[in-house]
Amino acid sequence: MRENQSDHDKQHNRYDLHVHTHYSQCAAIKPEEIAKIAIKKKLNGIAITDHDTIKGALRTKKIARKNGINIVIGEEVSTDKGHLLAYDIQETIRKRELLEVLDEIRSQGGIAVIAHPFTSLRKKFLQEIPTIKNRIDGIETFNGRIIMPQANAKANALADKLKIGKTAGSDAHFLFEIGTGVTKFKGTLREAIKQRKTIIETGSQLATPAALALSLARKMFGNKHA
Ligand SMILES: [Zn+2]
Ligand SMILES: [Zn+2]
Repeated sequence: MRENQSDHDKQHNRYDLHVHTHYSQCAAIKPEEIAKIAIKKKLNGIAITDHDTIKGALRTKKIARKNGINIVIGEEVSTDKGHLLAYDIQETIRKRELLEVLDEIRSQGGIAVIAHPFTSLRKKFLQEIPTIKNRIDGIETFNGRIIMPQANAKANALADKLKIGKTAGSDAHFLFEIGTGVTKFKGTLREAIKQRKTIIETGSQLATPAALALSLARKMFGNKHA
């Protein structure tokens, strides 16, 4: 029997794998707001990936647990070669040298995913691919904040070429952005990425320019959690 859309959705987890809270200087989302918006967007999991800290993720996990939303403890690590997403880690990663960061993710039992590899500032990552391709678990092939669609298309082609797992996330810094990029999978996130069985769902990016402007303003004027 052919499965209909809602059966299909019931079988799959739906996670936004790239969300910032106000523990990132440029973001405004409060941990208290996450569960409600996740339910509204039909997500059953969210990875909190603040810049260089897991504090926001730990706090969100504590709060969202009551609502049945799974929070992945993540961090968007600022390496010397670009942004790297670490999932399922235990402690904030403070190293900055790419290979050292990858070692630490592994030693913490985490998952390593290259974030938005084709954004103009982050192209340094690409030179490192031959060295690190066996040490990363996935590539973020859809980032909801990328204005140039070809950057996501190139990331997707790169993951295919390297035969490596794919992830999607909104890169939300504001509540209205959550859910613009969704990773669908069955079973555990780790196995789905490693076995290249994730399904990438892309949403509307109409709000992206406004969100980028708000982030910039927030970065310039700062906030108390920075
Ligand atoms: Zn980034
Ligand atoms: Zn980000």
